[in-house]
Amino acid sequence: MEAAGLPPARHLVYTHHHWDHVWGACAWPDVEVVGHRAGARILAAEVRRPWSHQYLRGEVEANPRLGPSFRARAWAMPSWEGFAIIPPQIEFDDALTLPCGVELRHVGGRHAEDSTVVAVPDSGVLLLGDCFYPPPFHLREPDDGYAVDLIERLLDEAELGRYE
Ligand SMILES: [Zn+2]
Repeated sequence: MEAAGLPPARHLVYTHHHWDHVWGACAWPDVEVVGHRAGARILAAEVRRPWSHQYLRGEVEANPRLGPSFRARAWAMPSWEGFAIIPPQIEFDDALTLPCGVELRHVGGRHAEDSTVVAVPDSGVLLLGDCFYPPPFHLREPDDGYAVDLIERLLDEAELGRYE
């Protein structure tokens, strides 16, 4: 960011609480983390887990459905030094506008109860996180699929000019 002439980041937004979206936050010590209240509650509990490769193995033995997710976590973590789960320091319920104008809006849905979309002002960009992503295969139920109702709501808002 410095090389690109950009100002330092001030906020880091969680689009939802899943590990592949939040475990990197500890590499950003000088930002305020922003997230939905439901995800903050979940992450407050995740902070208390004794994360290690041994812990991940034990959890998979106790619950094989966790295997794909927990094995991926193990592969992603060659070392646990300096690792910490950072719960949001700024929480919101329905919507929040950051000082820079970026708008956050809770949409929920099947993928994660705290799914949030992020609108970047004057850019035509709406970041969706994983909000319309179906559950991973190992956690799917027979009637799971894309959250078409959520996509339709977002498209309706685009037609109303809220997002491009
Ligand atoms: Zn996810």
